[in-house]
Formats: sequence, C-alpha cells, structure tokens
Amino acid sequence: MVQRIYAISSKADMQIITTNYIDGDFRKSSGTSEAPLYNPATEQQIGTVRLSTFDDVDAAVSAAKASYPSFSATSIEERVDMLGRLAEAVAARSEPLATAMREEYGAPSGFVSFSAERAGTVFLDMARAVIDYPWRQTIGSAEVEMRPLGVAAAITPWNSNIGFICAKLATAVAAGSPIVIKPSEMSAIQTQLLLEALHQAGLPRGVLNVVNGDGQTCGSALTAHPDVAKISFTGSTATGRAILRAAADTMKRVTLELGGKGAQIILDDADLDRAAEQALTSGFMNSGQACIAGTRVLIPSRLKFAFEQKLAGALSSYPVGPASDPAARIGPMVSQKQWERVQSYIALGIEEGARVIAGGLGRPDELDRGWFVRPTVFSDVDNGMRVAREEIFGPVLCILSYEDDDDAVRIANDTSYGLQNYVLSGDVERARKVARQLDSGRVVINGAPHEPMAPFGGFRQSGMGREYGAFGLTSFLEPRAILT
Ligand code: NDP
Repeated sequence: MVQRIYAISSKADMQIITTNYIDGDFRKSSGTSEAPLYNPATEQQIGTVRLSTFDDVDAAVSAAKASYPSFSATSIEERVDMLGRLAEAVAARSEPLATAMREEYGAPSGFVSFSAERAGTVFLDMARAVIDYPWRQTIGSAEVEMRPLGVAAAITPWNSNIGFICAKLATAVAAGSPIVIKPSEMSAIQTQLLLEALHQAGLPRGVLNVVNGDGQTCGSALTAHPDVAKISFTGSTATGRAILRAAADTMKRVTLELGGKGAQIILDDADLDRAAEQALTSGFMNSGQACIAGTRVLIPSRLKFAFEQKLAGALSSYPVGPASDPAARIGPMVSQKQWERVQSYIALGIEEGARVIAGGLGRPDELDRGWFVRPTVFSDVDNGMRVAREEIFGPVLCILSYEDDDDAVRIANDTSYGLQNYVLSGDVERARKVARQLDSGRVVINGAPHEPMAPFGGFRQSGMGREYGAFGLTSFLEPRAILT
C-alpha cells in the first residue's frame, strides 16, 4: 500500500493545496494568495491552490542546481533505471489520476484512458530513446559527446496536465538535467496526485521540483532566472513569444509547443462515412481543447452537401456530458473564461457569414449547468474568416470546400500555424503525396495512431524545436567536440 502524502480525503471535500515539491520534499509555499479550483461540469469550487512567489521558484532552481553535478554524471544505465521506476510509480496510480482528471478537468473517458496510460509509458519510450541514442561519435578528428546542458525548466498548460509534466520530466531525466516545472495552476489537484506518485520513484533529491503558481509570477521568474539553461514550454503562441523574448537575455535554449489550426483534407476517393467519423474524432478530441485538433475540414466542393449530411448524422454519436457519464464524448470547457471564448468564436462565425449545420450558441438543451458548449459545425467557411484562421480551442469545426488536390494543399498551408494536419483517402500513396506537401510537424494519414518515438512539434507559429524520442532528447543536450 502506497503511503498518501497530501491526499484527497473524500470527493466531497475541498482540496486545499499549499505545497510545492522541492528538493525531494513537499514544502509549504511562501505565497499568501490562493487560486480557486473548480469542477467544470458543475461549476462548483472544489479546492484552492496557494500561488507561489519568486522565493519558491528560486529555492526550486537552487535545489536543481545543487543536484546538477551528480545527476549529470549518472550513467545511461542509472537513468534508464530511474525512468523505469517513474513509469511504475505513475502506472500504479493511474486510477486516482484518471479520477482527478475527470473531476478537475472534465475530460471525456476516451481521452482520460489514453492520457492515464500514456503518462506512465512516456518514461519507457524515453528509456528506449536513451538506449539507442548516439551519445558519442567521431566526426573527422573530433570526439563529439552529447552533454546535459544544465538546469531545465518546464511550463505547462491545463489541457493535458499529467501528460505534459511526465513527457518533459522524462526527457530531462534521460538527458541528465534536473528540472523545475511550473504547471497550470488550474490543474493543481492533478499535479498534486501526480507528485505523490512521482515521489515514490525515489529520484535523487533536487532532480524534480514543481512550483504551483501563476505565469506572470512563477513562469516569468523561471524564464528570467540566470541558473536555468533550458525552457520547455507548451501553451499558447502569445505566451510562447513572451517566453522567447525573456529567455534571450540569458540565452536559454527554448523548445516551444504552441497552438494549431490543423486541416483535415478529405480526398475525393475517401469513404465519406469513415471520413465523417474521422473528422469528428480528430476535430473534437479532448472536447476540442487540443492543439493538434483538425479544425478545418477540407472537402471537394462537389461532395460538400453529401459530406455535411454524413457529418451531421455522425454527430449523434458524440454526446456531450460530464466525465462521470462513460458515453459522453465531449466534456465541459475547462473554465468559464474558456466557455466564453468558445461562445465568442461561435458568435463570430455566424457574424462572418458561416452557415451553422450543427450546434450554435449556448449550452446543450439537456445541460443547465457546467461549462458545456454545443458541438458546432460551420460550413461555407472561407479560409480568410477569423474562425478559419484563429485557434478556438473548443468543439467547433469549419468545413471549407476545394476544387482539386493542389487547391486543398494551398488552403491547408494558408495559415500561420503548422502543427498537425490530416489526410483521408482510399489510396495511401496518393495521401502520402499530398502529405509531403503540407507544412506541418506531423501529418496523420487515415487516422493512423500516435507514434511516440517520432518527433512532435510545429512549423511556423506552432512552435520551435521538437519533443519525443531522439529529437526531443537532443533538444535537452549540447554537443561538446574534443579535437586532438
Ligand atoms: P497559456 O499560454 O496561457 O499558458 C500556458 C502556461 O504558461 C501556463 O502554465 C501559464 O500560467 C504559463 N504562463 C502564462 N503567462 C506566462 C508568462 N508570461 N511567462 C511564463 N509562463 C506563463 O496557455 P493555456 O494554458 O491557456 O493553454 C491553452 C493554449 O495552449 C492553447 O492556445 C493551445 O494551443 C496551447 N497548447 C499547445 C500544445 C502543443 O503541444 N503545441 C498543447 C496544448 C496546448 P497560468 O496558468 O498562470 O496562465
């Protein structure tokens, strides 16, 4: 039986989170203000989290810095062993983690199952990358060795809190860099439970440090801190820009995983029933609160009407509801602010002249509370409209029509983003030909599953650098060449 440290005593209780995780211990935050935590399906407050100060960030960075000399000198075998222990510790807590994710975030059960399982396996994937990695090579007369680059920091958003923390921690451990993480304060209950699990893995003191706090105070303190060498950030493009500017002063290495406005190109030989199902799966994943959501659906103009009907039919298998309902495939938005943002984009689409073929403003009829929105599909969308250009981060799809494959590629690439696009076709070779012309970090053909060892990240304003596998590991390392 694993010992609870600061645990949820009962579902009805308010969660009062006052600690950070620094130097291998849960330590009281020195902050005096608190942020409320909500269940987005009920709008009820379920807890509070103490917001930390610069002093807490500084203590976390000091602990990480102190652990750097010994941790950076650990062998590959030792790091692989630590990654294995982290995977086991997280897997052992997957059920409470899933419960917290349902309660505090409201994610539908499909996303919860994927996330809870993946949170543990990400450590094993990184262990594979460590084993296969070319740590040393000879280039001409030089011996080139890949070295850890110092203390790393990570700043993460609320839409997959556990997953982002685990992925960034896994990479830091693999590289031999201690890490300080500032998660979104809106996910503090999930963070707390995850920390209890990670604590059980027995990492050396100072290797993992987590500070709860807001971006303006704690995030900014990390990006400016002279003892932080690397920032790995996932979040909005606007915040990514601010981080990049702040990091320049101390020349930090920066990886940015930002927003997206992915296209789903349905080629004219695709099975339309399957395409409609796939368009909803990719567009409404994680209730549409996903940077990789394929929110622009591109259909040949002659098939538009038939496709609209298929899509409207397929929507009936996308019930909206709380995470406690296993049939629900779309949950609430994370916060009232996010609910209002999605509503404002639905209103904007109508104002811009897009035709609503499903959904619209307000809550679904059967739900009178909770930050639920009506899954909305716009048709007759022009790629110049703001609903086609800006990331909405909710269950809102735009259908755009095109004339031929070249036109589809042109529309798909006509965006400031470039994270993940999708192609659907009855002919995989034809789909590959289209995929090779798309400007995005990933292109998914016919709903192919996630490949955890392949690089993940964006072109253009979707970010900078890559995560996962060998590419992700390289971004936490520096080459040192010794010439003789
Ligand atoms: P934000 O960019 O607002 O916040 C992300 C994190 O950055 C939070 O922890 C936040 O703290 C922190 N932060 C805010 N301001 C600063 C600052 N000035 N300096 C340092 N840190 C700061 O994004 P959201 O949390 O609203 O998440 C949604 C966005 O994230 C979407 O736009 C989405 O596209 C993007 N995203 C990208 C992903 C990707 O992999 N490409 C994946 C998931 C989301 P605080 O909580 O206090 O604001």
